[in-house]
Amino acid sequence: MQRSRRVSPSPTILATQRARDLQAAGRDVISLAAGEPDFDTPDHIKAAAIEAVRRGETKYTAVDGTPELKEAIAGKFARDNGLSFSPAQISVAPGGKAIIFNALSATLNPGDEVIIPAPHWPSYPGIALLAGGKPVIVETEAANGFLLTPELLDKAITPKTRWLILNSPSNPTGAMYGAEDLKAIADALRPRPHVMTLSDDIYEKLVYDGGRFATIAGEAPDLTKRVLTMNGASKSFAMTGWRIGFAGGPEWLIAAMADVMSQTTGNPSSISQAAATAALNGGQGFLGGWRATFSRRRDLVVSALNSAPGLSCEAPQGAFYVFASCRGAIGARAPADRVISSDADFVDALLEAQGVALVPGSAFGASPYFRLSFAAADDALEEACRRIRRFCESLT
Ligand code: GLU
Repeated sequence: MQRSRRVSPSPTILATQRARDLQAAGRDVISLAAGEPDFDTPDHIKAAAIEAVRRGETKYTAVDGTPELKEAIAGKFARDNGLSFSPAQISVAPGGKAIIFNALSATLNPGDEVIIPAPHWPSYPGIALLAGGKPVIVETEAANGFLLTPELLDKAITPKTRWLILNSPSNPTGAMYGAEDLKAIADALRPRPHVMTLSDDIYEKLVYDGGRFATIAGEAPDLTKRVLTMNGASKSFAMTGWRIGFAGGPEWLIAAMADVMSQTTGNPSSISQAAATAALNGGQGFLGGWRATFSRRRDLVVSALNSAPGLSCEAPQGAFYVFASCRGAIGARAPADRVISSDADFVDALLEAQGVALVPGSAFGASPYFRLSFAAADDALEEACRRIRRFCESLT
């Protein structure tokens, strides 16, 4: 079968586009579907990009990143994560998705398995399929904070397993693996040398309540030859549109990823690379304010959703999503006599009745839930929560 026919389009992107289309058609829609900071890229980063244009940095660069950006990334990994990478162990690509695609395409043989704990970002299985692999979804338990346990991991590993994907803080649940959790997972991985780990740390900087971020390569240094530690500019610097993802890992893998990139996207935008270099090398004082704002919005949303009939949620430890259960609304009737039989129905009926766009839990491999992004202005969040509550109260 053609590979493109094996994957459905990204549900987060679809939901966001649907909201945009409705807004363009004149509907009053509040979109809490997309996961992107509503803050603007800080001025010193924009200025660095403009300077790069003025200097004429408008040509191809080394395919997997300029020396300046690789040096800035090596500095970030050393400073924040205690990880030491040479430039040959660092890859830069046009976004985190491209990093994952390059890594999986470079390493998967047809049918190789990629373990993905659920709830998961929908693009992990999508990219694994595109790269010719077989996603193996491992369901985690809400009661255990939606974390993968060593026992679950152990049961899922087969001789065909090539990768485990870890994402902490998690999209969509905001769950975080502590250092001890990661050490226990490393213990399960240690005797399985055929399994690599992709650690997606893109939400590293968005951690609340004084939580301490940890990453598996930092907690199990003996496994670093089998770990690709991935991050990017999108979430930490509000640079989603600039498309800069990066990773540190073993040299053979980084070289293979560059080969894939040299035949697909080529280098990430030279201007975006200059901006990301300034972002990583510059002051990051603004992050404290962003975190405080996100944390306030998180509390607002968590308390509003928990007071709506049929809904319940926990406060996420990181990222900017609330993953709420809508179990209490399943089986109810929405306006126009529509029966809500799934989380997808709940999300559809809510959009129809109240103009609030969310993403159903089924997109993340867990039902009946929905994901709400609280990376939106306070007044939009407050109004959305009022509408969600009104909708839940209207169910019979
Ligand atoms: N990571 C974001 C999300 O989950 C951006 C959209 C996407 O690429 O999926 O909403």
